[in-house]
Amino acid sequence: MSTRDPQSIRISSDLLPRDGRFGCGPSKVRPEQMLALNLAGPRLMGTSHRQAPIKNLVGSIRSGLSQLFGLPDGWEILLGNGGSTVFWDVATFGLIENRSQHLVFGEFSSKFAEAAAAAPHLGEPSVIKTAPGSHPQSVCEDGIDTYALTHNETSTGVMMPLMRPAGSGDALVVVDATSAAGGLLWDPAEVDVYYFAPQKSFASDGGIWFAACSPQAIERIEKISASKRWTPASLDLKIALDNSKANQTYNTPALATLIMLESQVGWMNEIGGLSACNARSQQSSSILYSWAQARSWATPFVADADKRSQVVGTIDIAASADGGVDANDICAALRANGVVDTDSYRKLGRNQLRVGMFPAVDPEDVQALTACIDVVVEALRG
Ligand SMILES: *Cc1c(COP(=O)(O)O)cnc(C)c1O
Repeated sequence: MSTRDPQSIRISSDLLPRDGRFGCGPSKVRPEQMLALNLAGPRLMGTSHRQAPIKNLVGSIRSGLSQLFGLPDGWEILLGNGGSTVFWDVATFGLIENRSQHLVFGEFSSKFAEAAAAAPHLGEPSVIKTAPGSHPQSVCEDGIDTYALTHNETSTGVMMPLMRPAGSGDALVVVDATSAAGGLLWDPAEVDVYYFAPQKSFASDGGIWFAACSPQAIERIEKISASKRWTPASLDLKIALDNSKANQTYNTPALATLIMLESQVGWMNEIGGLSACNARSQQSSSILYSWAQARSWATPFVADADKRSQVVGTIDIAASADGGVDANDICAALRANGVVDTDSYRKLGRNQLRVGMFPAVDPEDVQALTACIDVVVEALRG
């Protein structure tokens, strides 16, 4: 049992990562993005979102994202205020026609299922669930018009390949890609709606949602809108669609978020697009997982290596009785040294570290983080 106060542990500065932000959202914002905000500030901040400078900024983000994802003709990037959580409500009004199927394998994937179950205008959703640490498979079911998948379950560090269920016909595949988008690869042929918020792989700030929508998804939005289902205007996808095509939002967006996002999307395309971003996250995650496997007191939480997320790493720490330490003490000691947000997802309730390895995070910094954890654990064990 360790009695050492974690906050008293000093990590020598040559071991520390250059940037100590390893959160899973908000996540590291690159200094270049802060500089872009400073440079663009006087011209863009505090100006109307209905005028050309901000509309051009939104247009540049929309085309930059289309390029990054390699979207086919006819796809549109939609945006609106509220983040991914609000998009679940948006989708219950504007994407699900009657019944949805949800793969639930953690906190975030369960939330959309709950939103659909609570909507009085929808039929009872079908929910396929697995315990945290793995993911279910979607199966085609009669009467399902929307298949809800999660590309990366941020609460558990599980990623899943995106595949249209065989035989699902004109049902939509709607993917929560909040922590995956920009860091993981996907094929637009397998997906109709790929939605996310910019505070994870896009290293910007929260409060806004983006959704890449296929022509079939746009058809669905138009169809539901024509059916005159009651929809609050702020959650109305048809209103969002019309505004987005005009590079606008229904109500005022956070301009600083958009400026930092544009800078990040530009950088991602410059360094080689989605495959280069994916390679960075893959490099970071293989450093983290192979380090954990080489420690007697650390184990990757996700047993199946193929399901281990490349953008959100979860590492179980052995209990002190088994030669480990309290993961909260590790986090406290790291934080006292400027290395922050390595805490596990609280509701998962494990003795665990969780590390954001989005493309903005330098793989060398993940390497440095592992060395810091070694030092901290040694000090804690005394
Ligand atoms: C972070 C996250 C959300 C919630 O995003 P908000 O923008 O905070 O609403 C939803 N789903 C997943 C997979 C996430 O990682």
